[in-house]
Amino acid sequence: MNKIIVAIDGFSSCGKSTIAKALAKYAGYTYVDTGAMYRAIALYMLRKHITDTPEIVAALPKIQVGFVLTDGAQHVTLNGEDVESQIRTLEVGNRASEISTIKEVRAFLVAQQQVMGEQKGIVMDGRDIGTVVFPKAELKLFLTATPEVRAQRRFDELVEKGEKPDFKAVLEDVNARDYRDTHRAESPLRQAEDAIVVDNSNLTREQQMEVIYDLFDRHQ
Ligand code: C5P
Repeated sequence: MNKIIVAIDGFSSCGKSTIAKALAKYAGYTYVDTGAMYRAIALYMLRKHITDTPEIVAALPKIQVGFVLTDGAQHVTLNGEDVESQIRTLEVGNRASEISTIKEVRAFLVAQQQVMGEQKGIVMDGRDIGTVVFPKAELKLFLTATPEVRAQRRFDELVEKGEKPDFKAVLEDVNARDYRDTHRAESPLRQAEDAIVVDNSNLTREQQMEVIYDLFDRHQ
């Protein structure tokens, strides 16, 4: 059977990575979480207290972002260090959203992502996968859910991690990130013309996966 590229884009906290991981397993494909790559760069800049755009751009050649499999789960690495847990904070997420507006940061990561897809058989999730990274992907999904549903999911995740989030602040953060992702000059988040929209506000995980597995089977 021919291997394809599956591009999954959508707003933050739509469950993109959960869906992408499940689909990759179903298909026997490689999963790539591009948000984790932006987060790893953001973590590097936070650690080094680098805030100016020219300094961020100058630091890029010193950064290697990769993935390792740990206990069957994909973890992102920053210069060889497993930073999977360090990148999953609100602070790193916000910084990632900011640095992802820089043209050179995007070009740096997009080039690496395109190499990862050369052999196809890949499920990649992000914001610009179906529009910029793989405009010719055979299957493009655009996931969406209401900001309130997404804020509740993010809130539950943070509580599970032992944090004490404020729901209003989480919702504001979701809205601010949506605004930045859709209004930035460089590769703003938008639905590719040939993407299939999946609104999962009122779908259970099982219902949603049924829809997505079916779409995948029909695009093989
Ligand atoms: O998906 P995740 O929330 O982990 O992504 C972190 C941030 O990285 C997002 O807010 C988004 O601004 C940025 N991002 C991006 N392009 C991608 C993936 C993520 O701009 N392909």
